[in-house]
Amino acid sequence: MQGEHEVVVLRLGHRPGRDDRMTTHVALTARALGADRAILVGDAGQSAETVADITARFGGPFDVEVRESYRPLLRDWEGTIVHLTMYGERVEDAAADVREAHAEGPLLVVVGAGKVPFEVYEAADWNVGVTNQPHSEVAALAVFLDRLFDGRELDREWTDAERRVIPQATGKRVEAADDASE
Ligand code: SAM
Repeated sequence: MQGEHEVVVLRLGHRPGRDDRMTTHVALTARALGADRAILVGDAGQSAETVADITARFGGPFDVEVRESYRPLLRDWEGTIVHLTMYGERVEDAAADVREAHAEGPLLVVVGAGKVPFEVYEAADWNVGVTNQPHSEVAALAVFLDRLFDGRELDREWTDAERRVIPQATGKRVEAADDASE
C-alpha cells in the first residue's frame, strides 16, 4: 500500500484447468487486500488478463505478471520472504515480527498450489500457518494480509478507476469514477 515498502504475492505453480480460478482469486485477493503486485508462475496468462481487466475497471495501483520460474525471484529477492503453509508457525506469533521486517524493506508472500518443494520452506524467512489446518491459499492470504496491515487495507484508496461501488445496505450502486484520483 502507498507509502510503505511493497508487498508482492508469489503464486507458485499453476496447473492449467485445475488452478485457473484459484490463481485468479489469489491475485484478486492480493489486489483487494493491499498487496502491490502479484507474480503468477506457469501458464497463468488468462488469470493475469482477468486481474488486469479488474484493475482497469475498479482501480489500482496493482500490477500482475506471469513468469516461467520462481527460483530466480526467490534467490534474488532483496527483502523478507514469508511462505504461507499449514505446517508453519502460527500467524498470531509471527505477524508482529513480519510487520517489523516489512517496515525495513519489501515483502514477498509465497502461496502454493500443488506440493510445495522443500527449497521454498528453506528460502523463506518465515513459514507461516493460518491455523495448522489444511484449507485454501486464498483464505490464508486474506487472513495473513489483514494481520500484516492490521485492517488498514480495508480503507485503502484506489486510483484510475473507471467505476466505483457505492456501499448500500440493499441493492447495488455503481458510479462512474469521473475523478481519476478517486
Ligand atoms: N499439499 C500442499 C503442500 O504440500 O504444501 C498444499 C496445498 S494447499 C491446497 C495450497 C496452498 O494453500 C499451500 O501451498 C499454502 O500456501 C496454502 N495453505 C493451505 N492451508 C494453509 C494454512 N493452514 N496456512 C497457510 N497457508 C495455507
